[in-house]
Amino acid sequence: MSTSKLIVANWKMNGGLSANQLLLDDIKAGWGAVHCRVGVCVPYPYLTQVQLLLAGTPIALGAQDVSIHATGAYTGEVSGSMLRDFGVRYCLVGHSERRQYHRESEVDVALKARQALACGITPIVCVGETLAQREAGETDSVVKRQLAAVIHENGHCISEIVVAYEPVWAIGTGRTATPDQAQAVHAVLRAQLKAATPQHERVAILYGGSMNTGNAADLLSQPDVDGGLIGGASLKANDFLEILHKASHEALANPMK
Ligand code: PEP
Repeated sequence: MSTSKLIVANWKMNGGLSANQLLLDDIKAGWGAVHCRVGVCVPYPYLTQVQLLLAGTPIALGAQDVSIHATGAYTGEVSGSMLRDFGVRYCLVGHSERRQYHRESEVDVALKARQALACGITPIVCVGETLAQREAGETDSVVKRQLAAVIHENGHCISEIVVAYEPVWAIGTGRTATPDQAQAVHAVLRAQLKAATPQHERVAILYGGSMNTGNAADLLSQPDVDGGLIGGASLKANDFLEILHKASHEALANPMK
């Protein structure tokens, strides 16, 4: 529903000092006519480096996780205020890899969103069903339950979040949801947000899951697809730039969406 698309890179646990510099230098050099909002979510150790590399660019810095705690004896955790110190604007919460490998519960995800919001960081709340859940016809109920937990905990400022629909079966698999499949779930999420806040139009709903140069335009042309969360393709400057240019074209072609 936002006027310009939002494209966010998720580097996951990839990169290194020289690789990050090369990638961002190439992205900056090929920037051209980008008319969409852009963020990059990088591993914690590279926040300072990437903050410096992004200075003076319109690209917003993002992180990939945040603690449910504000401060204290939580070894290994990173708080929202620490992220804020490095100019972090976006933070992924509830990515399926964290739900799956780190056993993050729906309550954990809701509390992480709350910490981010309390520190002035926009949480990008990831929701999505597994293949088994899709095949059992549970897609809508799963994503609604995941989002409901975040709404329940953050109702008063829910219009400040971003939602990313990421079907688990499409992440890193090369298997993408069809534009119709993505739109159907985005419409469900949009209706849920509409019931939660009169300001639901402020909330961008991104699609993520093997979005690439070949499918981005079709996915981004769907009425409730406000942008993309890009994993693998965000690590190749040319691919990421092409997606940014497609998102820019889509926003210019349909300014009222
Ligand atoms: C992701 O991890 O958020 C993601 C969308 O990954 P990929 O694009 O590689 O499927």
